[in-house]
Amino acid sequence: MAETKRDYYEVLGVDKNADEAALKKAYRALAKKYHPDMNPGDKEAEKKFKEASEAYAVLSDPEKRRQYDQFGHAAFDGGAGGASGFGGFGGFDGADFSDIFGDIFGDLFGGGRRGGRANNGPMKGANIRKGVRITFEEAVFGCEKELEVIIKDPCPKCNGTGAKPGTSPETCPKCGGKGQVVYTQQSFFGTVQNVQTCPDCHGTGKIIKEKCSDCGGTGYVSTKKKISVSIPAGIDNGQSVRIRDKGEPGVNGGPRGDLLVEVTVSRHPIFQRQDVHIFSTAPITFAQAALGAEVRIKTVDGEVLYNVKPGTKTDTKVRLKGKGVPSLRNPQARGDHYVTLVIQTPEKLSAEAKEALRRFDELTGNSLNTPEEPIEGEKKKKKKGFMDKLKETFED
Ligand SMILES: [Zn+2]
Ligand SMILES: [Zn+2]
Repeated sequence: MAETKRDYYEVLGVDKNADEAALKKAYRALAKKYHPDMNPGDKEAEKKFKEASEAYAVLSDPEKRRQYDQFGHAAFDGGAGGASGFGGFGGFDGADFSDIFGDIFGDLFGGGRRGGRANNGPMKGANIRKGVRITFEEAVFGCEKELEVIIKDPCPKCNGTGAKPGTSPETCPKCGGKGQVVYTQQSFFGTVQNVQTCPDCHGTGKIIKEKCSDCGGTGYVSTKKKISVSIPAGIDNGQSVRIRDKGEPGVNGGPRGDLLVEVTVSRHPIFQRQDVHIFSTAPITFAQAALGAEVRIKTVDGEVLYNVKPGTKTDTKVRLKGKGVPSLRNPQARGDHYVTLVIQTPEKLSAEAKEALRRFDELTGNSLNTPEEPIEGEKKKKKKGFMDKLKETFED
């Protein structure tokens, strides 16, 4: 023998009495660590992997383990006492590697390769999303919108099979209609099995030899259709309306998906919305605020009359009950409209109006902030003449 072989129990790091589960666990850990896929080009790892695989192949087989326990490595050298020729790495046929490697590959590749479900059961088709923009009022009161949607239907020419009329899809010879293929890899340590989606039929289990000319073999045709969408009163920005069975067709007899119409509500120049309530501001004049008045206020129902109480302060909030947005769940129930009354300061005044305001101040004795006496520490302001300004300029 060219090299002194390590003891198989030592290789796996288990004791002589290790049971099947302990062997498997030990080997699994080593195989994962030293697997060539994980250590490309690493000769040392490859050697360790071979060594562990050989040890496991022998110890996991009760008959071989018995021989090994009795004769040691000599049991497989074809020499003294050797019961069976176990030369090189070709003879691991007795060991069950497949489930171990299934586990390992499952771990390495995220579980995608093992236990893959055959995808030929009925499945609901995918949902389609489509956006629509509506006005503030349309959202409040609901509306009908016509949308252009591309609808996929089973091809009428081939009845959705994708095969040229007169022919029919054949069972995929590669996978036998299962949609999956099991790759058996023969390698130095035995047989490894991998389950993959069939590359010939892409998992459908069927092969179309002559494609339908209308659908190109897909089995579906797409047509633009106009769909009328009823948008309910009270819908808010970002909410969707679900239209059943207008999505993608189902697979293998499954139901169609849905069409989800996502609503974007345009901003309104004066109304804001929060849930079912509407907010706005309404300008009133100082005289209306002071004297009280009947004013017009804009709502989504049109203008309403509101009685401003005498002595109303600016930013007073008033509630117009039931002038808000209908509840989506119960359209009879409407929110409220909150109006902030804002007193407008007049900017352009006629001479007469100015005079009237001065007169008003005099009549009301309105001298809130007008200093009558000079404030201590401040020079009484007097109108500066031309000479004063000139003086200042030179002093600077
Ligand atoms: Zn067709
Ligand atoms: Zn196939």
